[in-house]
Amino acid sequence: MSGAVPVRSWGAARTDGAPVATGPMIDCENLVKIYKTRDFEVLALQGLDLTVERGEMMAIIGNSGSGKSTLLNLLGGLDRPSAGRLLVDGHDLLAIDDAARAEYKRRTVGFVWQNNARNLIPYLTAQQNVEAPLILDGRRDGRARARELLARVGLSDRRNHHLHQLSGGEQQRVAIAIALANGPGLLLADEPTGSVDKHSAGVIHDLFRELNRELGVTVVIVTHDRQLSRRVERVVAIRDGRTSSEFRMTHGYAEELARLAALGASDASSGAAAAGPSPVESHEELVVLDRTGRLQLPREYLEALGVQGRGMMRAELEEGRIVLKPREPEADGAGGVDGVEVQFVENGKP
Ligand code: ADP
Ligand code: MG
Repeated sequence: MSGAVPVRSWGAARTDGAPVATGPMIDCENLVKIYKTRDFEVLALQGLDLTVERGEMMAIIGNSGSGKSTLLNLLGGLDRPSAGRLLVDGHDLLAIDDAARAEYKRRTVGFVWQNNARNLIPYLTAQQNVEAPLILDGRRDGRARARELLARVGLSDRRNHHLHQLSGGEQQRVAIAIALANGPGLLLADEPTGSVDKHSAGVIHDLFRELNRELGVTVVIVTHDRQLSRRVERVVAIRDGRTSSEFRMTHGYAEELARLAALGASDASSGAAAAGPSPVESHEELVVLDRTGRLQLPREYLEALGVQGRGMMRAELEEGRIVLKPREPEADGAGGVDGVEVQFVENGKP
């Protein structure tokens, strides 16, 4: 497959697995992933667009089966896209060859799963778990590096505990230490707090935040946890294999978090923020319009009007607005209220 990548001002895409330091961390357009089995095909991603800047920390939410893990697996180089464009750290993941992809997986991304059994060995200690991949990778400083990584995730005093002596949250922190071992620029986490208690979830989330701020690592977290997602500046919702809407933290709430952080209340997470604004107040929801003009209307709006998911609607241009109305048998002009109204404004200012 050839990389039909437009030449960009920051240079051409790389296919050799070496790191590049400019452009967005993730640049994904019209991404398609089809799973083919003998009997059927599943269209898991159907033209997904997503850009994530370097140094950003963002969350992805969406119902089960919406394509979140598929996206993360593609970003992590664990699976290949079927079509579209996917550049991560300048690497073209559609054009990349197997050797470069292996190198990419080792150097560019770190992966944390919900189920840490996937990358931890139960009969080894925390130290040995972190050390093993480093030594296999031929690093002579494996022991010291593992110690440093465990300190980084706050587990110095648990270093010599066997995995089964650690709590689920602590095990997850060991997994994060491993994901950081090769100093990746991008950390991907697929529901990392899905099997830990609420307190541990807060600790893990704060850790991602710290790593993001202090190491500058870009963080993408798939989460079901509304509490966690509302403390992230940008949350992207995926529906049926496409980005449907984005939640951006409103100014007031972002400032409040910064103020709490400055006060040293680093775990604004657990206590203070729990009593803070509701999700509705902390973020505003923006519908994503893709390059071909497609958008997904919020399901609640359609339901409120009794509009079915498929069919035709009447689109009318009215004084700087696009108004969508259910297509119904011609009523006698008593409309106006029953429409979904889409207002286009310039630069976010009416
Ligand atoms: P999510 O993580 O949002 O729950 P997934 O990315 O796991 O969603 O799945 C998206 C869709 O792709 C689902 O319909 C799922 O059944 C399907 N799918 C995921 N992985 C595979 C696979 N390896 N083979 C076939 N279908 C798959
Ligand atoms: Mg999943």
